[in-house]
Amino acid sequence: MSRFLKEALRAVEPYTPGEQPRGVQDLLKLNTNENPFPPSPMVQKALHSGEIARLNLYSDPNCADFLRVLADTLGVGCGQVLAGNGSDEVLQFAFSAFAEKGAAYPDITYGFYDVLSRFFGLPSQIVPLREDLTVAVEDYEGFPGMVVLANPNAPTGLYLPLRQIEKLLCQDPNRLCLIDEAYIDFGGESAVSLLPRYENLLVVRTFSKSRSLAGARLGFAAGSEDVIRDLNTVRCSINPYNVNSLTLLAGISALRDADYFAKCCAEITAVRDWTARQLRGFGFTVTQSSTNFVFAGKNPRISGAEYYAALRKNNILVRHFAAPRTADWVRVSVGTRAQMERLVEATRGLL
Ligand SMILES: *Cc1c(COP(=O)(O)O)cnc(C)c1O
Repeated sequence: MSRFLKEALRAVEPYTPGEQPRGVQDLLKLNTNENPFPPSPMVQKALHSGEIARLNLYSDPNCADFLRVLADTLGVGCGQVLAGNGSDEVLQFAFSAFAEKGAAYPDITYGFYDVLSRFFGLPSQIVPLREDLTVAVEDYEGFPGMVVLANPNAPTGLYLPLRQIEKLLCQDPNRLCLIDEAYIDFGGESAVSLLPRYENLLVVRTFSKSRSLAGARLGFAAGSEDVIRDLNTVRCSINPYNVNSLTLLAGISALRDADYFAKCCAEITAVRDWTARQLRGFGFTVTQSSTNFVFAGKNPRISGAEYYAALRKNNILVRHFAAPRTADWVRVSVGTRAQMERLVEATRGLL
């Protein structure tokens, strides 16, 4: 730490992303929920040399072409969407705009919410998940700040039905609820359908998981026109060219290739359910995942930490969260069928 750092940042603990090892031979990387499939061939075609030659020009600060295609795909108005440099950036905008009275989020959820809350020095509230790892919306009744729920949640993989989200929205129309749908394309119904009826709903999504574009950094928010206008005020005050031109093109092509998208999602969910069955067969408890990962643990034969370490020795990288309530679990991203067969064989070997 330098002597120049401002006081408020001295105690900040940044987000720890899953490891991104480079150049390790034969490593099976199942730790950051990336899509095992490449982006749509249409994305690859769109990023040709003509576009690269135009990188001397700034990207469109309004992301207009991309947002038009996105709004059409979602069935919302063009003024109801905003693009971000990954959904992490959208979350950052939302926390800086709407969380003056703090944010409330589960104890077991995406770690970035807590990091942002601390970074902005917010009076936040961490709400424990119930014993069965589900969200009970009653637990948020009366909290005056922004409510933040990942749905489906990570790392539990559990989906909260839309009528529960509606109950949450009805608790207080003057309180904004941010629903982070990073995994919604792998199961469950999107809350985007509720937007016409709830002005206090903000949905955040990403192209990193279901659209195979983690490296392109593309996410978005969908909400009421007023809420999106507020987010644009923040965006244009911090980084008006926040999404680069190649990524915008990639996003348009990814949205247009609906067949490829549907095929990849269907394959991943099928392999996910197969993997869950195999792991249950080995004595793991595996939650009912609506995502592209499985959350497995509580195996009397091996602890979460031991399983993580043993897989690592086999050159298979999964995610282990050391906090007390998650320490006996691992989160395993769903890869191709062949990759998951390797995981299953390694598991059989080490047990
Ligand atoms: C992966 C993930 C994100 C981050 O997505 P990016 O668009 O890559 O920044 C946000 N929220 C949740 C719950 C995630 O799992």
